[in-house]
Amino acid sequence: MLDLAGDVDQPPVADVLIENGRIAAVGAAAAERSVREAGIKRIDATGKLVIPGLVNAHYHSHDVLLRGCYEQIPMDIWGFYSFPANYSRRSKEDIRLRTVLGAVECLSNGITTLQDMVTIVGPDREHVDAVREAYEACGARVVLGLQISDRAAVDAVPFWRDMPDDVVSQLPGAADPSKLQALIEDLVEEGGTERLNWALAPSAPQRCSDELLAWVAGLSERRQLQVFTHLYEARSQAVLARLAYPEGSLLAHLDRFDLIGPRLTIAHGVWIAPDEIDRFGAAGASLVCNPMSNMKLLNGFAPVVHYGRAGATMGLGCDNCSCSDAQNLFQSMKMFALMWGFQTAAGEGDAAREAFRAATLGGAKAIGLEGEVGAIRPGYRADIVLLDLDMPSYRPLNSAIRQIVYGETGTGVHTVIVGGDIVVEDRRHVAFANEQLKAEAEAALGRLKDEIAGVNERNERMLPQLLDAYEKANRYPLPLDRFSVRGGEPSSGKGSRS
Ligand SMILES: [Zn+2]
Repeated sequence: MLDLAGDVDQPPVADVLIENGRIAAVGAAAAERSVREAGIKRIDATGKLVIPGLVNAHYHSHDVLLRGCYEQIPMDIWGFYSFPANYSRRSKEDIRLRTVLGAVECLSNGITTLQDMVTIVGPDREHVDAVREAYEACGARVVLGLQISDRAAVDAVPFWRDMPDDVVSQLPGAADPSKLQALIEDLVEEGGTERLNWALAPSAPQRCSDELLAWVAGLSERRQLQVFTHLYEARSQAVLARLAYPEGSLLAHLDRFDLIGPRLTIAHGVWIAPDEIDRFGAAGASLVCNPMSNMKLLNGFAPVVHYGRAGATMGLGCDNCSCSDAQNLFQSMKMFALMWGFQTAAGEGDAAREAFRAATLGGAKAIGLEGEVGAIRPGYRADIVLLDLDMPSYRPLNSAIRQIVYGETGTGVHTVIVGGDIVVEDRRHVAFANEQLKAEAEAALGRLKDEIAGVNERNERMLPQLLDAYEKANRYPLPLDRFSVRGGEPSSGKGSRS
């Protein structure tokens, strides 16, 4: 059984006792009770590596059906392909299906907890119910936030306002968020369940008005809710900060609303300046790094080592299916560890350990579940994954943690337990048959196909202007370079606080 506080190369054999959905005892104490007490159901983990369920700390379930549709596209332009508002209203059944498809993929890859920043068009209460029902049926643990924003696209991306009128007129305008705000308040009031927690999800500071950010800050404070937002994902956002915000900083803008603290979790944080990282880390906020998405959308590399040295908590995510294409934290862990290596002095070790920590304990803290998930320790939720040590990547077993981070692809995930319930057994989800899901996914794609083609056609016409604006932002001088895997940072902590 692998625990970050123990031997992570040759983890010891240990019994784990689960009671009422939580870990009751580990090791000798668990073994003693299992002998003493009759009627305890046993799961034989011989030949398996027992690890805590992984935490996918940044994800959006709304575009699962668009996986594999696109090559690398600049982030700002990708939204015109992927965002739900580009498509007609989906049925409740389609919302449920896409949520199931994403969650079953997560579970099959050893992800037991996910953070879903879902966009609900309408806003349609029925669709929220479909999302909740889907998660319940799959058995996944979820921290759910309905994505909200209200500013016009031309105010959120630099140089878009300068595009020809016929392009600007097709961009989403300002929106009235009041219905969505009311729905979110209702949902938060209703509260969560054992497997579902609510959070707030303002899409990004530049996409939200001051009034909306003030509302987020107030509700977060009143209900002690985690706030998830996208910050400095693309280079263009660092340019926008300098062009349109008084202090030249989106982080400073969030600070105006008292939003920087342990309840703030940002996704990406790529194009952040060194002094902003120090401010962010000192405030006890969390970063969720999405390395595969950051490369697919041409955003670059987050300066993860600087974040760590500044005291920020770090989690890992897989982001959307239409930009990262796989809900697979093994990919994220490997990329994170490789980036970590580039950003530390040669010879400094522990990249694999840092990656595994981000995928478990770090991610748990980042989504507000510290002490609940991310480790197999007494009192924690019984969210456990059994990896099959008979897979070729574990022969021979030199270091469990390195072979997980650098060698595991997800094919070794054999059994997945959430809250003490087996949800994946012998690589198959216990409630959803692969054949059925495959047929339903193909049918749903059939209902969407013409619209995808229509959206592609529309975007094709706007593409030259959008690419011009993208290049303009790319040429705007910035004092940092996140296209470098070293993160445009000194290599051994110079410029950081500690
Ligand atoms: Zn995202």
